[in-house]
Amino acid sequence: MLRLTEELFAKSKEYMPGGVNSPVRSFKAVGQTPVFVERAKGAHIYDVEGRKYIDYVCSWGAKILGHADDDVIEAATGALKNGLSYGAPTKRECDLAALIRDMVPSMEMLRLVNSGTEATMSAIRVARGYTGRDQIVKFRGCYHGHSDGLLVKAGSGGMTSAIPDSLGVPKDYAKNTLIAEYNDLRSVEALFEAHSDTIACVIVEPVAANMGVVPPAEGFLEGLREITKRYGALLIFDEVITGFRLAPGGAQQLYQITPDLSCFGKIVGGGMPLAVYGGKKEIMEIVSPLGGVYQAGTLSGNPVATAAGIKTLEKLRDNKTLYRSIEEKTKVLAEVLKQTFQDEVVINRVGSLMSVFFTTYEVKDYRTALRADTKKYAQFFHAMLRRGIYLAPSQFEAMFVSVAHEAEVLNRTIEAIREVKAEMN
Ligand SMILES: *Cc1c(COP(=O)(O)O)cnc(C)c1O
Repeated sequence: MLRLTEELFAKSKEYMPGGVNSPVRSFKAVGQTPVFVERAKGAHIYDVEGRKYIDYVCSWGAKILGHADDDVIEAATGALKNGLSYGAPTKRECDLAALIRDMVPSMEMLRLVNSGTEATMSAIRVARGYTGRDQIVKFRGCYHGHSDGLLVKAGSGGMTSAIPDSLGVPKDYAKNTLIAEYNDLRSVEALFEAHSDTIACVIVEPVAANMGVVPPAEGFLEGLREITKRYGALLIFDEVITGFRLAPGGAQQLYQITPDLSCFGKIVGGGMPLAVYGGKKEIMEIVSPLGGVYQAGTLSGNPVATAAGIKTLEKLRDNKTLYRSIEEKTKVLAEVLKQTFQDEVVINRVGSLMSVFFTTYEVKDYRTALRADTKKYAQFFHAMLRRGIYLAPSQFEAMFVSVAHEAEVLNRTIEAIREVKAEMN
């Protein structure tokens, strides 16, 4: 890479672990030096060297309208002139909450928070408070942010005992998190049979997007709804990625399943730090000051973030062809990737969420995702990057398409895919 970037990365590493504020940004999974971004517009990011890239990370999906959308920037700019934070209620928080409930009817009552991590952590606290039970079920390969109880993995003693997946997570926390296999209802049923009256909730990404994209098998989400209901546990959809991406009402609209609680992040703040948890009114009324579950936030419902969020959601709501159009574009890319790489790859796609796995096996859960050839992905990633296409720097992340990825941008991407295939042979 170029010199300024090398210098910046070396310097950043002196100040921040790995030189970054979130691990995946360090390019550790693909090697070499990360791109240092200076600005972004539409489908493009521009680095500190003045190089231009077509961006398929899109702030991990948040930028569904493309970078620096004029209307969103105008809304945020207008808001920030009136002060950055008050620590008191505003009309805009109410407007955003109403807009969310309009688009996602299951969100009868909700709370605005600052990150997806906070949203899932709080939703789980609510589920525990409401059911009076301590244990939770999560799926191997699903990511729900970095709170203690969610940073666990299956232990060697089988799926019923979880162990910390990070140093610093007490073993006692992990004890309360049970691990099931994605797309395997029997693994969920088995956990409930063994812990029938201690499981508070099941938390799931309705379309898994943090082990690469893995769609729910037919009947999987319906099965989760049925099992949780039968055992008096809550079903939490973590729609931090899928929310406002797969449909105006998220995965729950697409698959017609009503969870008890849901979490949103990424898109809902239009690129600002804002996330949401909520669901059934009867359940959410347990949150303080109405009820006994405590949750708070100094900057929650921030006036600039809510302005960006409202404008983003309004644009998503009002454009009737938007979801079909971004899905079409993603489909084209998926088809080109498949035609070009043939049996070398498996493409998983739901709407505008997609992953290309370098594997010959069907990818339907964490185990099958792990079979992907990460070295080959790294090769693909760098060859694309050299051609000005910025993909997720890991095999196990999704590729995000935005409204701003227009025909010319797609054609340039397709050209690059074909050149890269020739180079990799
Ligand atoms: C990104 C993500 C989170 C965590 O959100 P942060 O804002 O990074 O804390 C939680 N769940 C899912 C499904 C995510 O993709």
